[in-house]
Amino acid sequence: MKIYYHPLQMLHKPLSYFSRGKMRQPQEKPERMEAFLQAVEKSAYGLSEVSDFGITPITNVHDLGYVHFLKTAYQEWQDLPEDMGEEVQTSVYVPDDSNPLIGVMAKAARYLADGSSPIGEHTWTSVYWSAQTSLTAAQGLLDGEQQSICLTRPAGHHARKDRAGGFCYLNNAAIAAEHLRSKYAKVAIIDTDMHHGQGIQEIFYERDDVLYASVHGSPVNFYPVVAGHENERGRGRGFMYNHNFPMPHGSSEQVFMDNVDKALEVVRTFEPDVVVHVLGFDVYVDDPQAKCAVSTQGFTELAAKIRSLNVPTMVLVEGGYLVEKLEDNLDAFIQGFAQPQA
Ligand SMILES: [Zn+2]
Repeated sequence: MKIYYHPLQMLHKPLSYFSRGKMRQPQEKPERMEAFLQAVEKSAYGLSEVSDFGITPITNVHDLGYVHFLKTAYQEWQDLPEDMGEEVQTSVYVPDDSNPLIGVMAKAARYLADGSSPIGEHTWTSVYWSAQTSLTAAQGLLDGEQQSICLTRPAGHHARKDRAGGFCYLNNAAIAAEHLRSKYAKVAIIDTDMHHGQGIQEIFYERDDVLYASVHGSPVNFYPVVAGHENERGRGRGFMYNHNFPMPHGSSEQVFMDNVDKALEVVRTFEPDVVVHVLGFDVYVDDPQAKCAVSTQGFTELAAKIRSLNVPTMVLVEGGYLVEKLEDNLDAFIQGFAQPQA
Protein backbone atom coordinates (compact mmCIF):
# COMPACT_ATOMS: atom_id res chain seq x y z
CA MET A 1 0.00 0.00 0.00
CA LYS A 2 1.21 3.51 -0.86
CA ILE A 3 0.52 6.71 1.04
CA TYR A 4 0.80 9.86 -1.09
CA TYR A 5 1.46 13.35 0.22
CA HIS A 6 2.91 16.61 -1.08
CA PRO A 7 4.27 19.15 1.45
CA LEU A 8 3.10 22.26 -0.46
CA GLN A 9 -0.43 21.37 0.62
CA MET A 10 0.53 22.82 4.02
CA LEU A 11 0.74 26.41 2.70
CA HIS A 12 -3.01 27.03 2.45
CA LYS A 13 -4.00 28.75 5.67
CA PRO A 14 -7.51 30.25 5.68
CA LEU A 15 -7.98 33.14 8.11
CA SER A 16 -11.76 33.04 8.52
CA TYR A 17 -14.95 31.79 6.95
CA PHE A 18 -18.62 32.70 6.95
CA SER A 19 -21.15 30.01 7.80
CA ARG A 20 -24.56 29.77 9.43
CA GLY A 21 -24.86 33.50 9.88
CA LYS A 22 -21.49 34.32 11.41
CA MET A 23 -17.79 34.64 10.80
CA ARG A 24 -15.88 31.67 12.18
CA GLN A 25 -12.36 30.50 12.90
CA PRO A 26 -11.13 28.05 10.24
CA GLN A 27 -11.37 24.36 11.10
CA GLU A 28 -9.56 23.32 7.94
CA LYS A 29 -6.03 24.20 9.04
CA PRO A 30 -2.50 22.86 8.42
CA GLU A 31 -2.36 21.26 11.88
CA ARG A 32 -4.79 18.63 10.59
CA MET A 33 -2.18 17.43 8.14
CA GLU A 34 0.52 17.32 10.82
CA ALA A 35 -1.69 14.90 12.78
CA PHE A 36 -2.14 12.68 9.71
CA LEU A 37 1.61 12.69 9.09
CA GLN A 38 2.22 11.52 12.65
CA ALA A 39 -0.08 8.55 12.04
CA VAL A 40 1.91 7.65 8.92
CA GLU A 41 5.19 8.02 10.78
CA LYS A 42 4.23 5.39 13.31
CA SER A 43 2.79 3.06 10.64
CA ALA A 44 4.73 0.55 8.58
CA TYR A 45 4.38 2.78 5.52
CA GLY A 46 6.50 5.65 4.27
CA LEU A 47 5.31 8.57 2.21
CA SER A 48 5.38 8.19 -1.56
CA GLU A 49 6.26 11.08 -3.83
CA VAL A 50 3.71 12.97 -5.84
CA SER A 51 4.15 13.56 -9.58
CA ASP A 52 3.04 16.58 -11.61
CA PHE A 53 0.43 15.72 -14.24
CA GLY A 54 -0.08 19.34 -15.28
CA ILE A 55 -3.32 21.23 -15.71
CA THR A 56 -5.07 19.08 -18.35
CA PRO A 57 -6.49 16.40 -16.00
CA ILE A 58 -7.83 19.28 -13.88
CA THR A 59 -9.52 21.09 -16.77
CA ASN A 60 -10.92 17.75 -17.96
CA VAL A 61 -13.26 18.16 -14.96
CA HIS A 62 -13.30 21.89 -14.16
CA ASP A 63 -14.25 24.96 -16.17
CA LEU A 64 -11.14 26.74 -17.51
CA GLY A 65 -12.37 30.18 -16.41
CA TYR A 66 -12.84 28.85 -12.89
CA VAL A 67 -9.38 27.30 -12.77
CA HIS A 68 -7.88 30.58 -14.03
CA PHE A 69 -9.77 32.43 -11.29
CA LEU A 70 -8.40 30.13 -8.57
CA LYS A 71 -4.90 30.70 -9.89
CA THR A 72 -5.02 34.49 -10.32
CA ALA A 73 -7.69 35.84 -7.96
CA TYR A 74 -5.45 36.52 -4.99
CA GLN A 75 -3.05 38.74 -6.94
CA GLU A 76 -5.90 40.63 -8.63
CA TRP A 77 -7.49 41.13 -5.21
CA GLN A 78 -4.26 42.50 -3.76
CA ASP A 79 -3.95 44.95 -6.64
CA LEU A 80 -7.30 46.60 -5.85
CA PRO A 81 -7.01 50.10 -4.40
CA GLU A 82 -9.97 49.67 -2.04
CA ASP A 83 -9.92 48.61 1.59
CA MET A 84 -10.07 44.88 0.92
CA GLY A 85 -9.82 41.93 3.27
CA GLU A 86 -6.68 39.79 3.20
CA GLU A 87 -8.41 36.89 1.41
CA VAL A 88 -10.63 36.74 -1.65
CA GLN A 89 -14.19 36.42 -0.37
CA THR A 90 -17.57 37.48 -1.67
CA SER A 91 -20.84 38.70 -0.28
CA VAL A 92 -22.35 38.90 -3.79
CA TYR A 93 -23.48 35.75 -5.58
CA VAL A 94 -24.33 35.87 -9.29
CA PRO A 95 -23.43 32.47 -10.72
CA ASP A 96 -25.36 32.70 -13.98
CA ASP A 97 -24.40 34.04 -17.40
CA SER A 98 -25.77 37.51 -16.66
CA ASN A 99 -22.49 38.10 -14.83
CA PRO A 100 -19.99 39.41 -17.39
CA LEU A 101 -17.05 38.58 -15.08
CA ILE A 102 -15.45 42.01 -15.26
CA GLY A 103 -13.18 42.48 -12.27
CA VAL A 104 -12.09 40.03 -9.61
CA MET A 105 -15.12 40.79 -7.40
CA ALA A 106 -17.47 39.78 -10.21
CA LYS A 107 -15.46 36.60 -10.72
CA ALA A 108 -15.67 35.86 -6.99
CA ALA A 109 -19.44 36.32 -7.23
CA ARG A 110 -19.44 33.74 -10.03
CA TYR A 111 -16.92 31.19 -8.81
CA LEU A 112 -17.39 31.09 -5.02
CA ALA A 113 -20.48 29.13 -3.98
CA ASP A 114 -20.47 30.12 -0.30
CA GLY A 115 -18.44 31.82 2.41
CA SER A 116 -16.30 28.87 3.39
CA SER A 117 -13.66 28.79 0.66
CA PRO A 118 -11.56 31.95 0.91
CA ILE A 119 -8.58 32.31 -1.41
CA GLY A 120 -5.32 33.38 0.21
CA GLU A 121 -1.78 33.88 -1.07
CA HIS A 122 -0.92 30.17 -1.24
CA THR A 123 -4.33 28.63 -1.79
CA TRP A 124 -3.77 27.82 -5.45
CA THR A 125 -0.40 26.16 -4.75
CA SER A 126 -1.93 23.86 -2.13
CA VAL A 127 -5.04 23.18 -4.19
CA TYR A 128 -2.92 22.30 -7.22
CA TRP A 129 -0.74 19.85 -5.29
CA SER A 130 -3.75 18.37 -3.57
CA ALA A 131 -5.15 17.53 -7.02
CA GLN A 132 -1.75 16.19 -8.15
CA THR A 133 -1.63 13.97 -5.06
CA SER A 134 -4.96 12.49 -6.06
CA LEU A 135 -3.81 12.09 -9.68
CA THR A 136 -0.63 10.32 -8.59
CA ALA A 137 -2.71 7.74 -6.72
CA ALA A 138 -5.02 7.37 -9.73
CA GLN A 139 -2.00 6.79 -11.95
CA GLY A 140 -0.81 4.19 -9.43
CA LEU A 141 -4.07 2.28 -9.89
CA LEU A 142 -3.68 2.57 -13.67
CA ASP A 143 -0.22 1.06 -13.27
CA GLY A 144 -1.51 -1.87 -11.25
CA GLU A 145 -1.36 -0.75 -7.63
CA GLN A 146 -4.04 -2.29 -5.45
CA GLN A 147 -4.33 0.17 -2.57
CA SER A 148 -3.35 3.72 -1.74
CA ILE A 149 -4.20 6.50 0.66
CA CYS A 150 -3.87 10.17 -0.28
CA LEU A 151 -3.34 12.82 2.36
CA THR A 152 -5.05 15.68 0.57
CA ARG A 153 -5.67 19.24 1.66
CA PRO A 154 -7.67 21.21 0.85
CA ALA A 155 -10.35 18.56 0.35
CA GLY A 156 -12.39 18.33 -2.82
CA HIS A 157 -15.80 16.72 -2.67
CA HIS A 158 -17.80 19.97 -2.40
CA ALA A 159 -16.01 21.60 -5.34
CA ARG A 160 -18.24 21.85 -8.37
CA LYS A 161 -17.26 22.10 -12.01
CA ASP A 162 -17.06 25.87 -11.72
CA ARG A 163 -17.49 26.82 -8.04
CA ALA A 164 -15.57 26.51 -4.79
CA GLY A 165 -17.39 25.85 -1.52
CA GLY A 166 -17.32 23.95 1.75
CA PHE A 167 -13.52 24.33 2.19
CA CYS A 168 -13.06 22.73 -1.30
CA TYR A 169 -11.64 24.14 -4.55
CA LEU A 170 -10.76 21.32 -6.97
CA ASN A 171 -12.69 18.08 -6.87
CA ASN A 172 -9.95 15.54 -6.27
CA ALA A 173 -12.26 12.51 -6.39
CA ALA A 174 -13.74 13.59 -9.72
CA ILE A 175 -10.31 14.43 -11.16
CA ALA A 176 -9.03 11.00 -10.12
CA ALA A 177 -12.14 9.24 -11.47
CA GLU A 178 -11.82 10.98 -14.82
CA HIS A 179 -8.13 10.04 -15.01
CA LEU A 180 -8.99 6.43 -14.16
CA ARG A 181 -11.50 6.40 -17.00
CA SER A 182 -8.57 6.59 -19.46
CA LYS A 183 -8.20 2.86 -18.88
CA TYR A 184 -11.05 1.56 -16.75
CA ALA A 185 -14.64 1.42 -18.00
CA LYS A 186 -16.33 1.68 -14.60
CA VAL A 187 -15.30 3.76 -11.61
CA ALA A 188 -17.20 3.83 -8.31
CA ILE A 189 -16.83 6.68 -5.83
CA ILE A 190 -17.96 5.89 -2.31
CA ASP A 191 -18.09 8.90 0.00
CA THR A 192 -18.34 8.42 3.77
CA ASP A 193 -17.52 11.99 4.82
CA MET A 194 -20.01 13.57 7.26
CA HIS A 195 -21.18 15.87 4.50
CA HIS A 196 -22.70 15.02 1.15
CA GLY A 197 -20.24 15.51 -1.71
CA GLN A 198 -22.57 17.51 -3.91
CA GLY A 199 -19.70 18.50 -6.20
CA ILE A 200 -19.03 14.89 -7.16
CA GLN A 201 -22.75 14.24 -7.55
CA GLU A 202 -23.20 17.24 -9.84
CA ILE A 203 -20.17 16.43 -12.03
CA PHE A 204 -21.27 12.84 -12.74
CA TYR A 205 -25.05 13.28 -12.42
CA GLU A 206 -25.79 12.39 -16.05
CA ARG A 207 -23.16 9.65 -16.44
CA ASP A 208 -23.35 5.90 -16.10
CA ASP A 209 -19.58 5.23 -16.15
CA VAL A 210 -18.88 6.80 -12.74
CA LEU A 211 -21.16 5.70 -9.92
CA TYR A 212 -21.48 7.90 -6.83
CA ALA A 213 -22.68 6.49 -3.50
CA SER A 214 -22.63 8.72 -0.42
CA VAL A 215 -23.36 8.16 3.28
CA HIS A 216 -23.73 11.47 5.10
CA GLY A 217 -25.71 13.52 7.58
CA SER A 218 -29.12 14.61 6.35
CA PRO A 219 -28.68 17.89 4.44
CA VAL A 220 -31.72 19.41 6.14
CA ASN A 221 -30.19 22.47 7.84
CA PHE A 222 -26.73 20.94 7.42
CA TYR A 223 -24.10 21.59 4.74
CA PRO A 224 -24.44 21.37 1.73
CA VAL A 225 -28.09 22.14 2.57
CA VAL A 226 -29.48 22.00 -0.97
CA ALA A 227 -28.32 18.53 -2.10
CA GLY A 228 -27.85 15.04 -0.71
CA HIS A 229 -31.40 13.73 -0.44
CA GLU A 230 -32.32 10.15 -1.22
CA ASN A 231 -34.44 11.05 -4.23
CA GLU A 232 -31.46 12.58 -6.11
CA ARG A 233 -30.69 9.54 -8.23
CA GLY A 234 -29.04 10.88 -11.39
CA ARG A 235 -30.48 11.98 -14.70
CA GLY A 236 -30.65 10.60 -18.23
CA ARG A 237 -28.00 7.94 -18.71
CA GLY A 238 -26.93 8.63 -15.13
CA PHE A 239 -30.30 7.74 -13.60
CA MET A 240 -29.73 5.27 -10.73
CA TYR A 241 -25.97 5.81 -10.85
CA ASN A 242 -26.23 8.29 -7.97
CA HIS A 243 -27.16 6.97 -4.54
CA ASN A 244 -27.54 9.02 -1.39
CA PHE A 245 -27.86 7.57 2.09
CA PRO A 246 -28.62 10.52 4.38
CA MET A 247 -28.59 9.73 8.09
CA PRO A 248 -30.75 11.48 10.68
CA HIS A 249 -28.71 13.83 12.88
CA GLY A 250 -27.65 12.09 16.06
CA SER A 251 -27.28 8.67 14.40
CA SER A 252 -25.36 5.92 16.17
CA GLU A 253 -22.28 4.13 14.84
CA GLN A 254 -24.52 1.19 13.93
CA VAL A 255 -26.72 3.39 11.74
CA PHE A 256 -23.58 4.68 10.00
CA MET A 257 -22.29 1.13 9.40
CA ASP A 258 -25.70 -0.06 8.16
CA ASN A 259 -25.75 2.78 5.64
CA VAL A 260 -22.18 2.02 4.56
CA ASP A 261 -23.30 -1.58 3.94
CA LYS A 262 -26.17 -0.34 1.78
CA ALA A 263 -23.83 1.90 -0.20
CA LEU A 264 -21.37 -0.97 -0.68
CA GLU A 265 -24.16 -3.20 -1.92
CA VAL A 266 -24.91 -0.68 -4.67
CA VAL A 267 -21.20 -0.50 -5.49
CA ARG A 268 -20.96 -4.32 -5.70
CA THR A 269 -23.94 -4.47 -8.04
CA PHE A 270 -22.20 -1.95 -10.33
CA GLU A 271 -19.08 -4.19 -10.46
CA PRO A 272 -16.56 -1.34 -10.75
CA ASP A 273 -13.04 -1.83 -12.08
CA VAL A 274 -11.69 0.60 -9.47
CA VAL A 275 -12.94 2.42 -6.40
CA VAL A 276 -12.26 5.92 -5.07
CA HIS A 277 -13.14 6.25 -1.38
CA VAL A 278 -13.70 9.73 0.03
CA LEU A 279 -12.90 9.33 3.72
CA GLY A 280 -14.00 11.96 6.24
CA PHE A 281 -13.02 11.75 9.87
CA ASP A 282 -15.76 14.27 10.66
CA VAL A 283 -18.12 11.33 11.33
CA TYR A 284 -16.09 10.81 14.53
CA VAL A 285 -18.30 11.15 17.62
CA ASP A 286 -16.58 14.25 19.06
CA ASP A 287 -15.78 16.04 15.79
CA PRO A 288 -17.20 19.59 15.73
CA GLN A 289 -19.00 18.72 12.46
CA ALA A 290 -20.31 15.31 13.54
CA LYS A 291 -23.98 14.42 13.27
CA CYS A 292 -23.28 10.76 14.00
CA ALA A 293 -21.11 8.86 16.47
CA VAL A 294 -18.39 6.77 14.86
CA SER A 295 -15.68 5.61 17.29
CA THR A 296 -11.95 5.32 16.60
CA GLN A 297 -12.39 1.54 16.33
CA GLY A 298 -15.20 2.23 13.86
CA PHE A 299 -12.66 3.47 11.30
CA THR A 300 -10.96 0.07 11.36
CA GLU A 301 -14.33 -1.53 10.69
CA LEU A 302 -15.11 0.97 7.91
CA ALA A 303 -11.74 0.30 6.28
CA ALA A 304 -12.29 -3.47 6.39
CA LYS A 305 -15.65 -3.00 4.69
CA ILE A 306 -14.06 -0.94 1.91
CA ARG A 307 -11.28 -3.51 1.55
CA SER A 308 -13.87 -6.30 1.30
CA LEU A 309 -14.92 -4.93 -2.11
CA ASN A 310 -11.72 -6.57 -3.29
CA VAL A 311 -11.27 -4.01 -6.05
CA PRO A 312 -8.22 -1.72 -6.52
CA THR A 313 -8.97 1.26 -4.29
CA MET A 314 -7.56 4.71 -3.63
CA VAL A 315 -8.62 6.58 -0.50
CA LEU A 316 -8.81 10.36 -0.33
CA VAL A 317 -8.60 11.68 3.21
CA GLU A 318 -10.94 14.71 3.24
CA GLY A 319 -12.93 15.95 6.29
CA GLY A 320 -12.10 15.64 9.98
CA TYR A 321 -11.63 18.62 12.28
CA LEU A 322 -10.93 17.36 15.79
CA VAL A 323 -7.17 17.69 15.37
CA GLU A 324 -6.20 15.80 18.53
CA LYS A 325 -7.96 12.63 17.33
CA LEU A 326 -6.94 12.63 13.65
CA GLU A 327 -3.72 10.69 14.26
CA ASP A 328 -5.51 7.87 16.12
CA ASN A 329 -8.37 7.77 13.67
CA LEU A 330 -6.16 7.57 10.56
CA ASP A 331 -4.06 4.93 12.32
CA ALA A 332 -7.24 2.93 13.01
CA PHE A 333 -8.27 3.21 9.36
CA ILE A 334 -4.86 2.09 8.09
CA GLN A 335 -5.03 -0.99 10.33
CA GLY A 336 -8.31 -2.07 8.77
CA PHE A 337 -7.46 -1.12 5.21
CA ALA A 338 -3.95 -2.42 4.62
CA GLN A 339 -3.61 -5.91 3.24
CA PRO A 340 -1.36 -8.04 5.46
CA GLN A 341 2.29 -7.50 4.50
CA ALA A 342 3.76 -10.33 2.46
ZN1 LIG B 1 -17.11 16.82 5.80
